[in-house]
Amino acid sequence: MAAPNIDTIVSLAKRRGFVFPSSEIYGGLGSAWDYGSLGVELCNNVKQAWWQWMVHERDDIEGVDSSIILNRLVWQYSGHEATFHDPLVDCRECKSRLRADKLDFEEGALPTDVGEIAQLITQKRARCTNCGSTDLTEPRPFNMMFRTMLGAAADENDPSALAYLRPETAQGIFINFLNVQTTMRRKIPFGIAQIGKSFRNEITPGNFILRTREFEQMEMEYFVRPDAEHSKLVDEWVEQYLEWFVGLGLARDNLQLHEVPAEELAHYSKRTVDIMYRYFPERPEAERQWEELMGIAYRTDFDLRSHSNKPTDGEGNRINPDSTDDLSFFDDGRKERFYPHVIEPAAGVNRTVLAVLMDAYSEKTNDKGETRVILKLRPQLAPIKAAILPLAKNKPEIVGMAKAIKRSLQPVLRAVYDDTGGIGKLYARQDEIGTPFCVTVDHQSLEDEAVTVRDRDTWEQDRVKVADLPEHLQARLRG
Ligand code: ATP
Repeated sequence: MAAPNIDTIVSLAKRRGFVFPSSEIYGGLGSAWDYGSLGVELCNNVKQAWWQWMVHERDDIEGVDSSIILNRLVWQYSGHEATFHDPLVDCRECKSRLRADKLDFEEGALPTDVGEIAQLITQKRARCTNCGSTDLTEPRPFNMMFRTMLGAAADENDPSALAYLRPETAQGIFINFLNVQTTMRRKIPFGIAQIGKSFRNEITPGNFILRTREFEQMEMEYFVRPDAEHSKLVDEWVEQYLEWFVGLGLARDNLQLHEVPAEELAHYSKRTVDIMYRYFPERPEAERQWEELMGIAYRTDFDLRSHSNKPTDGEGNRINPDSTDDLSFFDDGRKERFYPHVIEPAAGVNRTVLAVLMDAYSEKTNDKGETRVILKLRPQLAPIKAAILPLAKNKPEIVGMAKAIKRSLQPVLRAVYDDTGGIGKLYARQDEIGTPFCVTVDHQSLEDEAVTVRDRDTWEQDRVKVADLPEHLQARLRG
């Protein structure tokens, strides 16, 4: 079972401290969210799982952590200043500003480019998602990069002070390509991975943490020879990612591939395959149930070449007169110099977290006929691994023993102590936040130095010696 819709997760997330609407006491800030005490642990666990899988367990990937604000020229030569646009449409009726490709189109109409959308608007076959009106303007480009000013600029429009918040982490990798390659003595092929915040002034953010203006990405740029089998490499990364997502607990049925049509490709891409997740299972039309979880793009040598000072255009002029370096690679073995080509798997932390929460959601009925929510998170991702619960909170010996057990577990796994309710309520609360094990200390424990370990998914209980507890839990957490 998975969550029936995103709203179920929104209310669980708020109720239990995963995610809160941001700036709530001031009326909120359109589609901004703050991660609570459990949410931050879940995000960290997802990022840690990715880093472990991508960087530590492979032989061919290095990490990097670049600045969010880069020299403006980075965005000029990457093409983002000129082309990082979404098509914007205004509704003349309710004055909403809408992303053209997210309008409500007439049944059966699935436009694949802006030209087709414009036609549908003229034919009144597209509607405002807010008020349903067909009185819409023509689509026009809107640049999604957030602008800011660096230093004590005198004038808000001073071009020498203009800077952007990065809309992708990838460019911080490209401009460090030579730094990483030379310091880590790497040969092609190898990759550079980065996790960090990105910012896009989305026209229509929404659907909880699926589309926000501030979000986090896990990106990896894999540098290969110009004559590598690029399309095959895209397919290989797609397969590896599908496996990784299934390992995080996503059902394979809730994942689907989407080959991006040529006319929708980003300016740098020759091929992109998106991995889609079924974020909207409640929608009756099957094709509207899916949204992008991540994309795997073949970026050619576009970025390294654009940031290099050597390449020239057809008339012999340098395409980048501002760069001070050449980001090509010299292959010692073959005595050849070339610009490496790039395969890029780019995933969102927040979209991964949402998919993980949706797939982990389940309900179970207890002997009293009450429905309980169980968040069946993979132990690796669970914010809390074990909750230590005293059966009688008015018995100092039991409380003392429970607290001592919690402290002894802390160095090896994330454990909490809770005595704020009856045992049934405490179990239910831990089930709902995905804690794999509850450890109960009772009267008997004082005599036999043993505790009850309750399994979140089966509700089965085992008696375990306190001395064996850290090892016992660790073994079961490893699965
Ligand atoms: P979309 O088509 O949904 O706007 P995109 O194709 O522009 O996404 P990419 O540029 O491929 O997205 O970015 C890589 C990943 O970063 C996405 O697959 C997604 O997981 C994440 N991402 C992109 N934009 C957002 C956003 N506004 N909010 C949350 N995550 C995002």
